[in-house]
Amino acid sequence: MSLQVFNYLTREKETFKSLERDCVGMYVCGPTVYDHAHLGHAKLYVAMDVIVRYLRYLSYKVRYVQNITDVGHLLDSGEDRIMKGARRERVEPMEVVETYTRSYFEDMDALGVVRPNISPRASAHIPEQIEMVKSLLEKGYAYETPEGDVYFSVEKFPEYGKLSGRKVDELEPGARVVVREEKRHPADFALWKHAEPEHILRWPSPWGWGYPGWHAECTAMATKYLGETIDIHGGGLENIFPHNECELAQSEAVNGKQFARYWILAGSLTVNGVKMSKSLGNFLTIKEALKLYTPEAIRFFILSSHYRGPMDYSRDAMMAAQRGVERLHNTVRALRARAQHSVPSGTADLSYIADIDPHRDAFIEAMNDDFNTPRAIAALFDFNKEVNALLASEQPASRGTLAVIDRLYRELGGRVLGIIPDDLTQDIGGELVEGLMDVILGIRQQYRAASDWDQADLLRRQLAGLGVVVDDRPDGTAWRLERAG
Ligand SMILES: [Zn+2]
Repeated sequence: MSLQVFNYLTREKETFKSLERDCVGMYVCGPTVYDHAHLGHAKLYVAMDVIVRYLRYLSYKVRYVQNITDVGHLLDSGEDRIMKGARRERVEPMEVVETYTRSYFEDMDALGVVRPNISPRASAHIPEQIEMVKSLLEKGYAYETPEGDVYFSVEKFPEYGKLSGRKVDELEPGARVVVREEKRHPADFALWKHAEPEHILRWPSPWGWGYPGWHAECTAMATKYLGETIDIHGGGLENIFPHNECELAQSEAVNGKQFARYWILAGSLTVNGVKMSKSLGNFLTIKEALKLYTPEAIRFFILSSHYRGPMDYSRDAMMAAQRGVERLHNTVRALRARAQHSVPSGTADLSYIADIDPHRDAFIEAMNDDFNTPRAIAALFDFNKEVNALLASEQPASRGTLAVIDRLYRELGGRVLGIIPDDLTQDIGGELVEGLMDVILGIRQQYRAASDWDQADLLRRQLAGLGVVVDDRPDGTAWRLERAG
């Protein structure tokens, strides 16, 4: 079976075929950089990362473009998110942008998310956006108001709504607080907004000083770096309307061509069924999460459910993911240690290697089915079970056989899923550590039972010196790692 992807444009699973053989142009809506990223962002960008990794694994040359929104993304109140951050922190808007762009890449690097080939910034592509708005005006898809705003006229683009399934006449002015604009139709959206002198983020344009509407940047930058028709447009399902719908309308109105062939959109991360978001305050930043869990555990947690669905975060689910990924790591660690000490018989056991292929096939079959990572992980665990049996058997495997097995872990768990690092020596939290901690905490418990508080406290401080935090709770003593950063 070749790669099948669920296309939100048709609401069907389709056989993936790129426009140019062997090449894929992929655009993903990036973050608005006004605060630290949280686990909800991790879910989206890890999901997109695995899609890019898998396409590359299938030998496609992928050009991955993911923008940085540093202007124009307004809050419901009409306030620019960057300006709000600047006011909050009493700094220049571009300082906010620098700080949180760096923070975002730090987080993504820590999570093993491969960087996009191009990370264009909206503020660096104002001329391209102005050109697009000019072209939409010339073609009659947009109109200018006396105030100096430019709107896209949804009635001029009959296909408006085809991605999200919304119909123009059903669209109400919506929940926006102020319907302040001189729009011809409530669903018309801003391409360019005029700005008063006190507005710091503003640029000169044929319509006076102002700034682009949020949707303009993605169309302008996707077209600039990937052409008029792109293979894949990715992002979060929550942005299908109005953002993605507007991007599509702008692009197809300007170019008269299909904008994106496949729309691959990911479901959001929830907490007790409610979307994790900054505005609701129910979030855990990626930096906080990395203090509690390893990057591989976070990836494993995200990939253990299908990218299209919503996924609920809980401490228990994360702990289960941590244990799950450690089971894989323990086997791989044992395998690599065994390979170092096994007799250098060199050649691989051909009969065993023949057994490996079906595991790879099962993995690929799962991934070909709309990037079904939960099934791919299940395939990896089936393989892991066999490897554990082999490692436990009397018959020692040859070094060659062990190397072939290790290669498959590196290929599927490493290259594609990013949950098995090439170097596992730094990974702590495995069974041995668990066992040692049980022993140490057992000794400490004996001191406590004997009221030898000095010794109990000494042990706690020594552990703290190693970055291990001990928590005494009514139901017993727990420990966790205080990770750097
Ligand atoms: Zn976008």
